[in-house]
Order: sequence, then structure tokens, then C-alpha cells
Amino acid sequence: MKRVLITGAAGFLGSHLCDRFTKDGCYVIAMDNLITGDLKNIEHLFKLENFEFHHHDVTKFVHVAGDLDYILHFASPASPIDYLKIPIQTLKVGSLGTHNLLGLAKDKNARILIASTSEVYGDPLVHPQNEDYFGNVNTIGPRGVYDEAKRFQESITMAYHTYHGVDTRIVRIFNTYGPRMRLNDGRVVPAFIGQALRGEDLTIFGDGLQTRSFCYVDDLVEGIVRLLHSDYVYPVNIGNPDEITIKEFAEEIIQLTNANQKVVYRPLPTNDPLQRQPDITKAKELLDWEPKVKRAEGMQTTLEFFKKFSREELSISEH
Ligand code: NAD
Ligand code: UDP
Repeated sequence: MKRVLITGAAGFLGSHLCDRFTKDGCYVIAMDNLITGDLKNIEHLFKLENFEFHHHDVTKFVHVAGDLDYILHFASPASPIDYLKIPIQTLKVGSLGTHNLLGLAKDKNARILIASTSEVYGDPLVHPQNEDYFGNVNTIGPRGVYDEAKRFQESITMAYHTYHGVDTRIVRIFNTYGPRMRLNDGRVVPAFIGQALRGEDLTIFGDGLQTRSFCYVDDLVEGIVRLLHSDYVYPVNIGNPDEITIKEFAEEIIQLTNANQKVVYRPLPTNDPLQRQPDITKAKELLDWEPKVKRAEGMQTTLEFFKKFSREELSISEH
């Protein structure tokens, strides 16, 4: 039985990875300090014999007893409002946390996959973004704490590969959505669905002409599994190239929820990228991977998840 350490396990993506790896017959050691995650996302796994949970901050020394085959490092705040609230922790988990986990991978002779992001491309001047693009990041802007932590994370990961021979993988994840996103994490999918379900107007930041390309979580997880089992050590984009403006996206949510809401306009956050679309040529060629779930289908499943929230839970809004 392969033994897998998953950090950020109580978060949105980490919890789906725990589901997948326990189902695939691995022994999963889940680790999280719960700073933005929630044990509810993984409590259904506690009864399994091939699952254990460690409440631990990975910026502190990480100890795991026994062998490890794989490490998936997903711990990090990921929503703009989270990393603006906790900028130092965000920098530390991307830098010190990654350093600790690379050291653990070296010690255990384990393969490590780190979660990077399309934010390494910043506000991109190249469209769509392929892995060769170096990016356009404002180091000292408010998003810099996340973007630069992730850029450092990629650099130290390559250095551990080159200088210590650690078996590394880097996934650059583009906007992903699905059940278990936090209702009030400020990201556009839970923000718009929450507003629609509460009967509030949908808040579009800027003129709404900025674009994103949304990937359903199951597709992302499949891409990650394939990358982990490949022998490719350079960064690979995983995302859905189906690009849409935020204004069109708001209209889709209004239709999907049969809501009568209007949209209202709010200022665009500083350095909010104006366009984003993954070039997934590499993932197609190397991993024979491409997304399967259309936005209409993925959003319907996501809506069903949020509809289960009580009125009180729904009313805890960030806006
Ligand atoms: P999330 O906030 O739901 O999950 C992150 C988890 O990491 C949380 O459970 C949090 O408590 C935990 N964590 C944070 N700091 C920690 C620390 N110091 N020690 C231990 N645990 C810690 O976010 P998510 O959307 O699931 O993102 C997971 C990873 O994927 C992040 O590394 C993020 O940068 C990356 N990513 C996500 C997306 C996306 O669209 N969801 C896009 C690009 C990259
Ligand atoms: N956004 C918006 N209204 C909201 C939340 C977000 O218009 O209530 C916009 C945000 O400015 C950005 C896009 O939606 O242009 C995606 O934001 P999100 O925080 O989900 O992800 P990221 O900016 O990290 O891609």
C-alpha cells in the first residue's frame, strides 16, 4: 500500500485529493493547521483504516513516522481575501513550509508534487499562458505575498531536484471550483452563488470584462494524479481553457439559480489579472489529459452543494 502525505488536506482541493487517494487504495496521512480549511471536508474519512489526520502547521518542522512514497503539498491560503488577511502565513507556507516538505521528501526518498498556480503568471501579457511564459507579477503589490511565495516554491523545488536529486513534480493550477469551496472565501464562484441564494445582487469587480477559465475539481484531481505518475519534472498547467468574462459568468449564475438579481459594480482589486486562460498543450501531450466536465454540469453540482446550507450559514457573507 502506497503511503501518501497530503498537506492542506482539510481544504477544498486537499480534501478531494484525500478522497481520491483513499479510494485508490493508498494510506493517506492528512495534515492541516485549519487556518482556512474545515474538518467537515474530511470527517467522512476518519472511519477509514487507510486514513489519519495530523493537526500541524507545516511551517514548523514536519515529522511523519514510517515510510512515505508520495507527498502532495497543497497547504496554502488560496483565495485573495484569505491571503490578504494572512499575508505573512501565506509567504511562510509557500517558502518555509515547502522547504520543510522538500527536506522530508529527501529524507524519506519520496516523490513530492507541489501545488503551484496560474498566479505565477501574474497579470499576463501573453495569452493564453503556456509554461514557458515568465509572468508579470508585482512583487510588492497585495497579491505579491501569494504569487511570490508560489514562485519561490517552484524555484526551491527545482533546486532540490537539481542539487539533491529529489523526485519532484510541479502543477500550475488554474481557477478550480466545486463542492467544498468555502461559502465566504470571497472567490467568485462561492461569492456569486451565495449572493444568488441569499437574494442579493451579484458584485462584479471592475467592468467585468476580465476573464477566467474555470476547471471542475474532478478534472483537476485526475490531472494531478496523472502528473504525479508521470516522469516530467517541469511545471505543467492544469486547467480548463473554456474562457469567460466575469460579467458573462454572473449572467450564467443568475440563469442557473433562476434568480431575479441584478449585477452591481465594485472597484477592481489591485493587480487583479485582466485575462487568464491555460494553454494545456503540454498536459494533453504528456499526460493524455484534458478536462471533461462542462461548466454547466460542474456548476449545477456545485450549486447543489451550496443549496444544502441553512439560511443562517448562508447569511454569513463577506460582502
Ligand atoms: P483552501 O484554503 O481550501 O485549502 C488550503 C488548506 O491549507 C486549508 O485547509 C488550510 O487550513 C491549509 N493550510 C494553510 N496553511 C497551512 C499551514 N501552514 N500548515 C498546514 N496547513 C495549512 O485552498 P484550496 O483552493 O484547496 O488550495 C489548495 C492549494 O492549491 C493551495 O496551495 C493553492 O495555492 C493551490 N491552488 C488552488 C487553486 C484553486 O483554484 N482552488 C488554484 C491555484 C492553486
Ligand atoms: N470577482 C468579482 N466579484 C466577486 C469576487 C470576485 O467580480 O464577488 C472577480 C475578481 O475580481 C476576479 C475574478 O472574479 O477578476 C476571479 O476572482 P477569484 O477571487 O475567484 O480568483 P482569482 O482572482 O484568484 O483568479
